[in-house]
Amino acid sequence: MPYAPPRICKCGALVPAGRACPRCSKAAEAARPNRHQRGYDSDWYRLRRRHLETHPGCVVCGSTEGVDVDHKASIRERPELRLAPSNLQTLCRLHHNRKTHGKMQE
Ligand SMILES: [Zn+2]
Ligand SMILES: [Zn+2]
Repeated sequence: MPYAPPRICKCGALVPAGRACPRCSKAAEAARPNRHQRGYDSDWYRLRRRHLETHPGCVVCGSTEGVDVDHKASIRERPELRLAPSNLQTLCRLHHNRKTHGKMQE
């Protein structure tokens, strides 16, 4: 039976031959975005707050009540634009709902 020496992973861990590095597979697991989270992490909250400071009113009606920051192109369609300031717009709850339900145009 041929002896296969353990390999040294790029992370420096000694890994038994033919096995995935436990350290790296754990790191990959942690780095994988949680589908349910939909990318709403601390980066997003920071960007959102900054956007609301400079764009406090709904882009449709100008209301500043119950506003939220909306992605013009949804994260699902354009995940790479998730943190792009140009892809953000302030919407009040009413207009956010309208957009979500595809009734932006009256
Ligand atoms: Zn590794
Ligand atoms: Zn509005």
